[in-house]
Amino acid sequence: MRQHWDKMPYTKRSDGRKMDELRPIRAEVGIVPNADGSALFASGKTVAIAAVYGPKPLHPAHMQKPDRGIIRCEYNMLPFSVGERARPGPSRRSKEISMITSNALSSVVELTRFPGTVIDVQIMILQADAGTRCAGINAAAMALAHAGVVMKEMISSVSIGKIDDKIVTDITKEEEDYSEGEGPTDIPFTMTSRKKDIVHLQLDGNIPVKRFKEAVEASKIACDKILDYQVRALKGEKIDEDKWKWNCL
Ligand code: ADP
Repeated sequence: MRQHWDKMPYTKRSDGRKMDELRPIRAEVGIVPNADGSALFASGKTVAIAAVYGPKPLHPAHMQKPDRGIIRCEYNMLPFSVGERARPGPSRRSKEISMITSNALSSVVELTRFPGTVIDVQIMILQADAGTRCAGINAAAMALAHAGVVMKEMISSVSIGKIDDKIVTDITKEEEDYSEGEGPTDIPFTMTSRKKDIVHLQLDGNIPVKRFKEAVEASKIACDKILDYQVRALKGEKIDEDKWKWNCL
């Protein structure tokens, strides 16, 4: 049985990053020629692509909203995105992530400009090392902007963790599985670019209110950095801080 003197404080991150440091980012738009808008967003070994189709008339017609359009989001993890082959097809997890992504995007897209239509957003996780919902949201927001869909603000997403007693930015799967000390807490945040409204927040684990406030502050700083990558990519820059180091799985 583990005793209290076994506690291993989390003083150094497993991949050597500073506590508030993001993983190397790759960001690019226009990667799916047939889509109306598309983007890739990768954070370290987590790689997401998003493709946007529409706005187009929603069928069946009785599902149309006369005063606004809707966003229909589908998040999928490829079978080979993880070490153990992931079961293909929809799951409770993928449905939940599709829903929270759709809600986050709907809060910034000017849906009243597209009554009766649907905007399809397909998110594919090519490789997963935690934070896939955040990478998917970042890619989807870029793909919508790339498609020219009118948005009130951009959104950026990051997963902040409390690993043992440390607040850390953009956590990996290894950190998510850290079970020493106080254990892991995973808090994905999605924030708007100007008003800094939180449009998506989930909490897996436990955290005192004071530490939660620190996590909110860390998420603001990280989302601002991510926003800068998204905007630069939308301006046509190919961002590749990692130079595709495929030494991962
Ligand atoms: P997120 O990817 O947004 O952090 P989760 O917390 O549900 O979402 O998942 C954390 C990580 O666990 C994923 O990024 C992935 O690395 C791994 N994972 C999730 N589902 C599976 C699965 N079916 N098989 C293997 N690994 C998985």
